[in-house]
Amino acid sequence: MGVTVGTGIGSGFVIDGKIYHGSRGFAMELGHIVVQRDGLTCNCGLEGCLEAYSSVSAIQKATARINPKYSTCELRELLIEAKSNQQLRIIIERSREYLAMGLATACMILDPDIIIVGGGGMDAGLYSIAEIEKSVRAKTSKVNHHTQIRKATMGNQAGVMGAMLLAAQS
Ligand SMILES: [Zn+2]
Repeated sequence: MGVTVGTGIGSGFVIDGKIYHGSRGFAMELGHIVVQRDGLTCNCGLEGCLEAYSSVSAIQKATARINPKYSTCELRELLIEAKSNQQLRIIIERSREYLAMGLATACMILDPDIIIVGGGGMDAGLYSIAEIEKSVRAKTSKVNHHTQIRKATMGNQAGVMGAMLLAAQS
């Protein structure tokens, strides 16, 4: 399973070497599973989606709510600020917990061998993969603890590499 933390939350699932698309091509909308009842409005129009809490844009919106001066900050600036600002750290930790909830749910349903977490947010150091793993373990039963949780290593190249591999298969 692959998950990207960027402007939104993207995800995909590979089974027997093939991408799983679902019956009509809309499978793996992990970013739009509801993690909070009556929660924040998501870009998709629903309320309480994972993406509305754990994406980079969700972090930017949440920090702007505590102080409008953060509304123009890039993620990297917010992460530097968070080192000395507990309110920002709480927002980031809460967002990471929501992400872990989503990943734990996926583990319980799909029982994946490995979950690769990447995207611009992860590249910038938004969430610690060790903390995500710890939290996913706490939210899943022992039979699901074999799932490896790893940080993606290909950075911006991942999308291009994936497209090349897909083209090579067809
Ligand atoms: Zn949504």
